[in-house]
Amino acid sequence: MSKIRQTTLEINLQSLSHNFQYLSSHLSKNTKLMAVVKAFSYGNNPVVIGKKLIELGADYLAVAYDTEAIDLRLAGIKKPILIFHPYAVNFEKIIEHQLTPSIFSKKKLERFIDVAEKQQQKAYPIHLKLNTGFNRLGFEPENLDFISEKLAQTEAVKVEGIFSHLAASQDPQERDFTLLQLKNFKVLSENIINKLNHNPLRHLCNTSGILNYPEAHFDMVRTGIGLYGYGNAAEIDAQLKPVGSLKTVISQIHHLEEGDSVGYNRRFIASKKMQTATLSLGYADGIHRHYSNGKTAVFVNGKPAPIIGDICMDMFMIDVTNINCEEGTEVTIFGAEQSAEDFAKAAGTISYEVITTIAHRVKRVIIE
Ligand SMILES: *Cc1c(COP(=O)(O)O)cnc(C)c1O
Repeated sequence: MSKIRQTTLEINLQSLSHNFQYLSSHLSKNTKLMAVVKAFSYGNNPVVIGKKLIELGADYLAVAYDTEAIDLRLAGIKKPILIFHPYAVNFEKIIEHQLTPSIFSKKKLERFIDVAEKQQQKAYPIHLKLNTGFNRLGFEPENLDFISEKLAQTEAVKVEGIFSHLAASQDPQERDFTLLQLKNFKVLSENIINKLNHNPLRHLCNTSGILNYPEAHFDMVRTGIGLYGYGNAAEIDAQLKPVGSLKTVISQIHHLEEGDSVGYNRRFIASKKMQTATLSLGYADGIHRHYSNGKTAVFVNGKPAPIIGDICMDMFMIDVTNINCEEGTEVTIFGAEQSAEDFAKAAGTISYEVITTIAHRVKRVIIE
């Protein structure tokens, strides 16, 4: 690995392949895999990651919003792309770019059919999203007759998929709730399918669902976090390889006397002689202020160096007393020495949040 000279997110495609194989090994031969590349592919590089996942055999890609999907199309990705949360105002654009909308309400269904009919579409693919207990997006059981009536009256759209989302697939204590969601999904989707004359793809599981509920795989699964190397459980994390490593270099070293302060509002006061280092990333890069004041540490030459003072917008300071280092020494925020999950936990958050909020100004380096 080359020596870094600025704040860098290293993106390891071999780790991505490893995780893809690991997750695929839990699927039966006929189960399709939808790779979730929303939120800049969980903070990485959606075009590179998306292309790699297709090469590895992903059947489908998924994103949250329209613009994310359009960016992938403009980069030449031709695979089907499901948009979990499309805006009605962009339905024309969605069709123009041959993207698949998730349709989750009566109003959205009416409007999409309207747009598709105006454009004289035939059997344009849509996925219906059902609410089975998450209470975020999705049709309610009482909407089913409406859906079937609307679909019966048009040839412009075709239900290619029916899906729902699990609220607590990672939590063994919520097993009963998850099984109830699974049952609701079966009942509601069968009700719709009975009135269609084809079999749409059904999909319910996210990463933890894949691993914890093999009976719930249906025709396709949707995996995000697992592809990037995190599995919401220590045993699973041990099998996966984090794709991203966030590193930086020391910008400057300072030597403090007892009573000297560090940073805004003099949040840190030295209780003894100490050596500090300033790093070139801050809350605008995704290292939120929650990490301030010793909550968590980064690694310098294999040793933990606690964060001191408040995280600034573009920089933060660490305690490197007794650590052999100088201007230019490499520092790991997360990577080999600690995972993004460990780093996240210390500040009361989760790997998902840490990796998806790495700012776009942080240089990405792809490691093949
Ligand atoms: C983000 C998301 C996923 C992926 O979840 P992971 O826990 O990252 O695997 C799957 N389905 C939907 C609807 C999502 O929003």
